[in-house]
Amino acid sequence: MPSVLITGASRGLGLEFVRQYAADGWQVFACARAPGTPPLAAAAALGNVAVHALDVTDRSAITALARQLAGTPLDVLLNVAGSMGSRSFASDGLEIQRFGAIDYEDWLRILQVNVLGQARMAEAFAGHVAASEQRKVITLSSMLGSMGLNTRGGLYAYRSSKAALNAVMKSMAVDLQSKGIIAIPMHPGWVRTDMGGPNATVDPVDSVAGMRRIIAGLTLADSGRFLQYDGVELPW
Ligand code: NDP
Repeated sequence: MPSVLITGASRGLGLEFVRQYAADGWQVFACARAPGTPPLAAAAALGNVAVHALDVTDRSAITALARQLAGTPLDVLLNVAGSMGSRSFASDGLEIQRFGAIDYEDWLRILQVNVLGQARMAEAFAGHVAASEQRKVITLSSMLGSMGLNTRGGLYAYRSSKAALNAVMKSMAVDLQSKGIIAIPMHPGWVRTDMGGPNATVDPVDSVAGMRRIIAGLTLADSGRFLQYDGVELPW
């Protein structure tokens, strides 16, 4: 039975990943800051789902979980947890973190989750992934981190966090190639979650189904690419 560890499993895309992988018979390690929430408990009841409390900014919690799962191969490490900070794109759009009104404390908190948290997870679990059959580290980035696609400006904190994350994933693709590990950042589309808001164009079920299809087909030759949920390659 293949296995996947998913961060940010409490809601949105992380929760949908838990549902779909569990329904497909995978062993799922679902990690969330609030592991007892009803939607996650309901998903866990599908079977093959172990729920763990995990804040990706908590270095000692990450280390403790990696130790707890020592000897457990992880086919896919799926870093889904992400933050836009204290304000919501869904309600405030490009007004959040705009030039002239940047909240630097919030920016640092966003970097802690979106960049450092993902890097720590990969460092802590690379051994578990290397010991598996599929050997994949997948991190949810965003087209908002693409320089090439940035025509509207704004969103300084979130954009820079996802651009930095892309750089992290590119280095990881190079550094982990000798271990046979595939590392890629993915854009899930503009998805109807708390983060994406009700006007987003993609349903979470379709986004996750698309990403799972891409993840399943990845080979080492794909490592370091920046892929959208439907397979389209995005510019850095
Ligand atoms: P949501 O805002 O709906 O969910 C965010 C998830 O991240 C929640 O489970 C939240 O947990 C978790 N999280 C936040 N901070 C931490 C932390 N410190 N430790 C652990 N978990 C944390 O977002 P989505 O599901 O829409 O987004 C998932 C990923 O996809 C993110 O990385 C996001 O940047 C990316 N993305 C989303 C897009 C969209 O349109 N929705 C577009 C492009 C990228 P909690 O419930 O505890 O707050």
